Amino acid sequence: MSTIEQLKQDNAEFQWHPMAHPAAMKKSKPDIVARGEGCWIWDVDGHKLLDGVGGLWASNLGHSATAVRDAIVAQLDELPFYNTFRGTSHPRAIELSAQLVKMMEPDGVASVMFSSGGSDAVETALKLARQYHKLRGEKDRFKFISLRQGYHGVHFGGMSVNGNTNFRRAYEPLLPGCFHIDTPWLYRNPYTNDPLELGEICAELLEREIVFQGPDTVAAFIAEPVQGAGGVIVPPANYWPLVRKICDKHGVLLIADEVVTGFGRTGHLFGTRLWGVTADLWCLAKGISSGYVPLGATAISAKVAQVFNDDKSGQAAVGHGYTYSAHPVAAAAALATLAQIQALDVPGNAGRVGAVMQERLRQLEKTCSFVGNVRGVGLMLGIEMVDDKATRTPMPRSSDIPARVAKEAYQRGLMVRISGPNLILSPPLVISLDEVNHLCDVLEASFAAVEASL
Ligand code: PMP
Repeated sequence: MSTIEQLKQDNAEFQWHPMAHPAAMKKSKPDIVARGEGCWIWDVDGHKLLDGVGGLWASNLGHSATAVRDAIVAQLDELPFYNTFRGTSHPRAIELSAQLVKMMEPDGVASVMFSSGGSDAVETALKLARQYHKLRGEKDRFKFISLRQGYHGVHFGGMSVNGNTNFRRAYEPLLPGCFHIDTPWLYRNPYTNDPLELGEICAELLEREIVFQGPDTVAAFIAEPVQGAGGVIVPPANYWPLVRKICDKHGVLLIADEVVTGFGRTGHLFGTRLWGVTADLWCLAKGISSGYVPLGATAISAKVAQVFNDDKSGQAAVGHGYTYSAHPVAAAAALATLAQIQALDVPGNAGRVGAVMQERLRQLEKTCSFVGNVRGVGLMLGIEMVDDKATRTPMPRSSDIPARVAKEAYQRGLMVRISGPNLILSPPLVISLDEVNHLCDVLEASFAAVEASL
């Protein structure tokens, strides 16, 4: 057996994949990605593909950012690991915290706490939110409100606020005190086709839920500025500003889960800036280190930080943190990434070439009989496939059409991601205009090929 065949067989035999049925993986061989350069990847069979997935919303600088690579190598030589517990620190952790706070000063950020990824960053935010209220003497404020279709990682806290029951069912019972409200989703809602009216209605749903629960019991509302894994759902422009006002009115903290939207994907450095609001806590990961080394961070606003800093009772000690919080190699990768984001104006590129991607692929709604809705902003885009366009009947989970489109794209040299009925695109943010046009050409041809075969 060739080495490549052996790899494929060993994968089926030994490795369980996230979000997959272990037995299914034994039947269908995975796409084994062996090498990357710029916005391109090569599978073990030598097939070259444009990376429409960006690793997984993460490889924002592409796969060969030498500045990040060099920073990692230098850090390995200098200090491969040390912790940041209690009174211990190391230079990269300090430099990165200062740099991040400087970047987020316009958003009102005062401090940052590191972790190893997005789920960790969410957990940190949820726990700090509860502790904040306890420190202020509002000890009953423990509940969390979040959005249906939202995704906040897989730890018990994040999973409990997740709005996708598929990720929750097998692990229930979850954290008590978590409640879900409707997402302002223009394509699928029972209320209205008018975006601003929908924004108002859904913001009112938040207020009604807070009042129903009792404002003195609600710790925080958590949401993604643009929902990613749920199918790239972009809220109306008035939604986040209204949510900010409602949270303030009822003393509820606003947690922005920017694991996907942070560091430029929407065309703005942070998703909250897209909506012109600030949060109280931000969850960051993925693009922070361009995926080169796992890293998460929770940014803490001056408002929240002050309550901890001013505490005289001793209860503000943060009983939370990870061995790898601010891992030196990850911190070095992140410092180099942040420098590149600024030097290359990564959010600007995402906005410019993203607009072309949005404009071109939106045409699929008109040209393809089973594309119901194309939506997104910047370099994040979702294509929702439907059974019946006129009635917007969802494509059943059992349909093989999305997988067939992905296969057509793969054969034409484009890696895409399928999540239920949605095809999701999140290419590296340094992608060029030529590459974006190539991505659109390939996708148009892939949808046309599947349509012709029906
Ligand atoms: N929050 C959001 C919005 C995410 O999209 C993700 C991951 N896709 C997470 C949290 C969890 O991040 P991780 O997989 O790094 O734990």
